[in-house]
This record gives sequence, C-alpha cells and structure tokens, in this order.
Amino acid sequence: MKITHADIYPLSIPLIEPMKMSREIVVDAKTVLLCLTDDKGRQGWGEASVAPLMTGETLDSLIGSIKYLVEKSLSIDWLKPDDFAEIFNLILYSNASAKACLEMALLDLYTQEVGLPLWRYLRGRNAVPNESAPAAIPLLRMLGGSLDKELSDAETFRALGFRHWKIKIGSLTLDEDLHRVKVLSDALGGDVISVDANCALTLPNAIRFCQSKEASRLSFAEQLIPADLPMGDFVLLNRSSGIPMGLDESIHGVVELEQFIEAGAFGGASLKLIKTGGIINALSCANLLREHRLGFNLACKIAESSLSAAATASIGFAMGEVSWGFSMSNQYLMFDVCDVPLVAKRGCLDVEQLASTGVGITPNINRVKEVIAKGYSTIQC
Ligand SMILES: [Mg+2]
Repeated sequence: MKITHADIYPLSIPLIEPMKMSREIVVDAKTVLLCLTDDKGRQGWGEASVAPLMTGETLDSLIGSIKYLVEKSLSIDWLKPDDFAEIFNLILYSNASAKACLEMALLDLYTQEVGLPLWRYLRGRNAVPNESAPAAIPLLRMLGGSLDKELSDAETFRALGFRHWKIKIGSLTLDEDLHRVKVLSDALGGDVISVDANCALTLPNAIRFCQSKEASRLSFAEQLIPADLPMGDFVLLNRSSGIPMGLDESIHGVVELEQFIEAGAFGGASLKLIKTGGIINALSCANLLREHRLGFNLACKIAESSLSAAATASIGFAMGEVSWGFSMSNQYLMFDVCDVPLVAKRGCLDVEQLASTGVGITPNINRVKEVIAKGYSTIQC
C-alpha cells in the first residue's frame, strides 16, 4: 500500500458551550484531520487533537509533526499494521499524537483494502472469534457549570438514557467540590459516576477527598494528583482510597501501565489515542488492564470529531465491554465534519452507526474546509 497524496487540515470547531477544567477552559476543538490517498485511489482519514497539558501538543507543533511524518511516508510501502508503529519510530522520536493521526489514516486504508470494519479487524487481533455484532458502548457524559446547571443537565441526559457521568473537579475549593459530588450522587443514584481533577489536587486533599463520605458512591476518581509526583504518592493515595483510582495524564502507554501495575498504584486508566500513539497501542493497553482486572475508559480529547470517536470506539467494540464508559467528545461540538455524526442512542453508541469497512466515518470535505482554523490553510504533501 503506497501513499500518493496527503492533505492536512488544521481545524477549529466551536463547542456548544465552554468546557471548564481545573487548569484550562476549552472553547473550541483544535484538531487536525489527515486525508491520505493511496495508489488504488482510496482515501483514508486520520485525526488528532491538540492537548497542551496532556501531550504538550499545540496546533502548530501537531501540524509540523504530522507533515514531517507524512512526507517520509510517501516513499514507504505500508504492508502490515504490526509494523506501523516501529516504522513511525524510525522516522520521528516521541510525538504520539501525530503518530496516532497517521496510524488512523493508514488503518482506515488497510481495513478498506481487506474489506473489514476497523473494529472487526481489532477483534480479530484479540482472537475473538464471535461473529455477532458487539454490544453498544455506554457513553460517559461530562457535567459542568453551576450546580443548578449540572443537576438540570443530569436530569435531561438521564432521561435520554445516559448512565455514565464525569464530574470535573479541582477548580473550586475541596469542600465545594465535595458538596457538588454529594448532590449529584444523590440525583444519579445507581449510575456509574466519576470525577476528574486533571491533576489539580494536592496529595493530602486527594486523600481527604477519597476518604470522604460525600465521594463514597463514586465508581472511580480520575487523576486527582499531578502526573509528575513520585510513584510512592500514587501508591499511598491508592491504598488510602475507598474508591478506585483512575489515571489519565500519568498514562501514555503500556510501559507506564506496567510500572503502575507493579507498584499497585491505581485501579484503572483512561485511554486516548493521542497519548498511546495510536489504535493498536491503545488496544494493547486495554488488554493489559483487563488482564489485571483493572478498569478502563476510552476517551477522546475535548473535543474530537466523529472520525476519532469512531476509531476510539472500535477498540471498545473489539474488547466487548468498556467498564468505565466511553467519553465521546463530538457530542460537545457545535457541529461535526461528517454528514451523519455519531450520536448517543439511549446513552450508548452502537456499532451500526459505523460503515462496513474502514474506520467507519468519512468526513465531508466541504464541511472540513469550512472549519479550517483562522490563520491556517490546507497543507498538501
Ligand atoms: Mg481525564
């Protein structure tokens, strides 16, 4: 499989409403789409979003790395997906997000060529022989804004079938966050409720949070403390906590997972393609977590389009279940880049929304061109 042409699209898509996290407020999705054309005339699409506080990527750095990788890719015959990551590493050190973008586009082409949907190809890698359609994946809905708005959104989306929730914490005082968590836990009793501090708590505050009565009904608490704290702090927090400790910013792949598993420092992890460097590595992470009876959720960065959502969901469909839910962030976009965006049905994503070959979502080129980020243009290779 040879690549004959590539277009790189730096995009800015407004969110329906700003998303407030402990260390940043996101108002638009800064994401990069890549369209590869192969020697048979097929097109394969990839996507990766910026995440300055998670991967260090900005729009400029991401475009630069993708362009560099793609230019070198034009002379390569892409045969086996198992070799893709190794080839990327021979071209460029680190830069997981750019590699995830290119891998997604290459896997889109590869699975079109072999006539399979990506999720079924991944299921085959996991040696799951079952030919039946996988169960729908529960979607994790983020709550934010004032407590009244959070309660109102919780009621609205619960009525639509959502049962997995994430409460962003860390930008208010600990007591204020504990109060929110208690009130929302009362309102959403029986559901899978989680919090995410995006590294904002000190270790003493994190321990106090996890041992509090208010937080006792949470299914997991994600990345309470900064990723650069020593392993011993994570072990202490995990041992002190009455609820499972999820990690996000701390985890970028199998190597870190193995270190945290050996230390007994967590209860599960959040997997994003921009961190793992792609779909196949993320699948390996999910398998490792399952093997050790740890939880995991799949997540897109706030925010990515239906394209990245389809690729990420394919891991869930291949795994058969996603215990901590799937954070599909296209639901926060003002509009999507494809004709038929992925949508929640009774709070879940079903596989029928994906096309029968490839990643399963094809962006509409006219829509893509309408949301090119201000000051940027399409890059052709
Ligand atoms: Mg997180």
